[in-house]
Amino acid sequence: MTDMLHGLMQDDFPLTLNHIRRRVRSSNFGAEVVTLMPDGSVERSTHAQVAERIDRLARVLAELGIEQGDRVGTFAWNNQRHLELYFAIPCSGAVLHTLNIRLFNEQLTYIVNHAEDKAIFVDDSLVPLLEKLAPSFSTVERYVVMGGGDTGTLPNALRYEDLLEAAGPGDFDYPEVDERQAAALCYTSGTTGNPKGVLYSHRSISLHSSGTLMTDSTALSRDDRVLAVVPMFHANAWGLPYGAALAGADLILPDRFLGAEPLANLITAERPTLMGCVPTIFADLLRYADAHPEVDLSSLTNAACGGSAVPRQLMKDFEERHHVRIFQAWGMTETSPVATYSRPMEGEQDDAYWDDRAKQGRPLPWVELRLVDDDGTEVPWDGLSTGEIEVRGPWIAAGYFREPDDEKFDSGWLRTGDIAAVDEKGFVQITDRAKDVIKSGGEWISSVELENELMSHPDVVEAAVIAKPDERWAERPLCCVVLANGAGTTADQLVDHLRDRVAKWWLPDEFAFVEEIPKTSVGKFDKKVLRGRLAEGTLDGRVQV
Ligand code: ADP
Repeated sequence: MTDMLHGLMQDDFPLTLNHIRRRVRSSNFGAEVVTLMPDGSVERSTHAQVAERIDRLARVLAELGIEQGDRVGTFAWNNQRHLELYFAIPCSGAVLHTLNIRLFNEQLTYIVNHAEDKAIFVDDSLVPLLEKLAPSFSTVERYVVMGGGDTGTLPNALRYEDLLEAAGPGDFDYPEVDERQAAALCYTSGTTGNPKGVLYSHRSISLHSSGTLMTDSTALSRDDRVLAVVPMFHANAWGLPYGAALAGADLILPDRFLGAEPLANLITAERPTLMGCVPTIFADLLRYADAHPEVDLSSLTNAACGGSAVPRQLMKDFEERHHVRIFQAWGMTETSPVATYSRPMEGEQDDAYWDDRAKQGRPLPWVELRLVDDDGTEVPWDGLSTGEIEVRGPWIAAGYFREPDDEKFDSGWLRTGDIAAVDEKGFVQITDRAKDVIKSGGEWISSVELENELMSHPDVVEAAVIAKPDERWAERPLCCVVLANGAGTTADQLVDHLRDRVAKWWLPDEFAFVEEIPKTSVGKFDKKVLRGRLAEGTLDGRVQV
């Protein structure tokens, strides 16, 4: 009887990247991949042409002796060749290891050796960076240089285009891969200790890619032109390359040209509808577009922003001045990375509407989320109570590659290290990273909210709030602020600005006016460096209120 009731569906059909690759080859009629070139021109290929090159590349990998399960590194920007590697490596059964080019040298050495990469594919523009490190890599047998530039001192260096040319046209006989097999490896940026490897499976990437096509998520569709600014060497560029390929959307890749000017020109010329990038790049873009009336960003009706809290004012300014709608996303390398997405409820654009827009959004379908307090008790979703976010789901990590870390996992749930409240509608609001929280007189002060409110002041370009040890209150907030060029705004004026926006006891009694907020390898405010400067007594520009 139970046998009879077993579902009669093709449950063994594997959820693998080979399915997405086959769609790129056969179903994505007219879709294109556009890559920005150093002279400001673009190179275009159809998805069919890209698929043909993926087949050639798969043949090259076989000829280079890359076997199932081998890790193959990439050291590359966002461009078509990197996209080809995104498919050819996992579809051949090997593991795509995207090396984060912005990690410190010691971290890069650590991750290449920890992953035991067998070969590394490198953009010619990055050869000077990689050749210095090559002697410290113990398992890399060869390098493949992409583009026509110099191969430098890299040992056993081959040229990508020569190899593809020699491989010739024609179908490649891809091996069967198991959906649970590893497809890609990505290390966290390791703000504490060594970077940790997150090993994505074919199944997890397939499901996450489907997630990016859902309407309440990124809502990626065939009609989109997707600009992936977020690097392909960090958390799979938020899954945008795979999502675009699955949907049959155009993909626009800016290579290494991430400054406001080349991006603004690229957007004006190529008219992307969807873009993914961190708030700092959006803020640069806003300033540039404000100052250059010829820039037209209005095609961006669906801009995804995340990686750190997105200031409400940034979203408002983009919408009011440039007709760009920004939606906030939250996630981390361990969550593939998209876990929540903020599509606001329809309604009047009043304060409540903008309050929702400033939140990190609702969990995607298949992502389960709960808040847990210090004692391990679940916290209610009342919009006020805070706890650490724990998540589980089919694209959430269950462990780290070759590095057991029981602390991070709680009976099948991932401990994210992010503190949040969730309201009755299921909207998550991050108040802090656990290591950044400020506890003043036994009460939490949200550094994220203070930063958000400070950055709504027209003269404040950047704001990062850290905890300062205090004898009476244990900790008090110290606001590190970058003012716009020429602005002479005082600490008192900033406190006045905050006065009716935050609770009275949150009002800071100290500011540090700095030239720049230090950033991490992926462009986030690096509060660890600020805390270090504070401890050493080298945090300049401090002013008591
Ligand atoms: P790392 O390697 O530093 O963990 P990730 O890119 O994986 O780099 O960073 C994930 C972290 O970024 C999250 O845990 C969270 O603290 C922060 N983050 C991501 N998106 C948001 C967001 N929309 N709002 C606030 N914080 C965010």
